[in-house]
Amino acid sequence: MPPWCPISPYKGLLILVIAFVLLEYFMNTFTSSKTSLYLNTTKLLSDDKENRYGPLLKTLLFKNNKTYSYNKTILSTTKNESYFSYVVTHPPSLASKLNNSSLTPSVSEATSTIEAQNESIPLCPDDVSFNLKGRIPIIRTPVPTVQDLEKRFNWLQPGGHWQPENCRVLSKVAIVIPFRCRGEHLLLFLQHMHPFLKRQQLDYRIFVVEQDGEKSFNRAMLMNIGYKEALNVNHFDCFIFHDIDLLPEDDRNLYTCPNQPRHMSVAVDILKYKLPYPEIFGGVSAISTEHFKLLNGFSNSFWGWGGEDDDMSNRIRYHHLHISRYPLTIARYTMLTHKKDKPSPSRYDVLKQGQQRFDKDGLNNLQYKLIHKKFNLLYTWILVEINQPS
Ligand code: UDP
Ligand code: MN
Repeated sequence: MPPWCPISPYKGLLILVIAFVLLEYFMNTFTSSKTSLYLNTTKLLSDDKENRYGPLLKTLLFKNNKTYSYNKTILSTTKNESYFSYVVTHPPSLASKLNNSSLTPSVSEATSTIEAQNESIPLCPDDVSFNLKGRIPIIRTPVPTVQDLEKRFNWLQPGGHWQPENCRVLSKVAIVIPFRCRGEHLLLFLQHMHPFLKRQQLDYRIFVVEQDGEKSFNRAMLMNIGYKEALNVNHFDCFIFHDIDLLPEDDRNLYTCPNQPRHMSVAVDILKYKLPYPEIFGGVSAISTEHFKLLNGFSNSFWGWGGEDDDMSNRIRYHHLHISRYPLTIARYTMLTHKKDKPSPSRYDVLKQGQQRFDKDGLNNLQYKLIHKKFNLLYTWILVEINQPS
């Protein structure tokens, strides 16, 4: 065929495909993006960290049959735990792979999730008020089904996780709920909270920590377990400990951790929207990861209703921290109705002895058996067995 003749459609298509492959190759070879990977090395001994995480990262990137250069920075480190950030320089086409959370569990050595963030997107604004509504209605009926909610909140990522798509948030928030036999409350809570937290433009994940069996309930211990298990999943900067039955009435009540522990449920409807006493720290509270560790978490010694929140209030004071609060007009909550539990008769005695145990009763003597951990779309579910010492 003479060269000026029109080429056959098949050849044309072939040339186009080759041109596209070459362009893709060029883009990947000669341009680069940066992605940060955050690793939490909980459970690894300090000497071991260096050796194990170097190979770990290589393994991760080898999935692509290539290695890429990275800069490693220690974000924070304590006796047993460090957070590293690796900034990896890579072709743009890898960004979506690094951001794909399905990649992470396949890293066999990882004790934690590795989250990728694309540094090419800008930081989210500090002021999110443009996105808020202020007072919001509390919906009690009809109670939605799981399927309902999963359909409505299809923007969630497994484990009840969301983060803004077009901007980066520096702080990660874990919402921890102590739970047993409050199925309806859980559905109403999720229905209310996911859109609420999304409007606040948070990078958050909801953990439901359920106590197995019917023995005495231990709210504080479940929250300690939530803290530990959450940090096995990812790095979090901020923890919100949340009763399942308290629904915030105003989305200006930000679910973040300020530089002092914050008592969030200041004005509850059934308490006539008044603070019952100044030291109260029950219901909903926000404590930074760093402070929670300093406080040695909650006491594990309060079985049955009451006392554990006042013990935490004492721990905060003992460590020269102070309780901060939003005004009554904003930190408003509705409590869903439930049968009132009988207060535990021993709570005052345990509370009185509290101070002697601050440094040996809490995160550092926590014992439990993890029965189940599941990343549902609406929340990360953690089922545990805990036993009251006889
Ligand atoms: N809780 C639960 N099941 C129970 C008892 C308590 O899930 O059988 C959890 C739930 O998150 C609840 C919180 O512990 O909101 C506090 O318990 P409750 O609501 O009974 O306390 P009160 O409202 O009387 O302070
Ligand atoms: Mn309640």
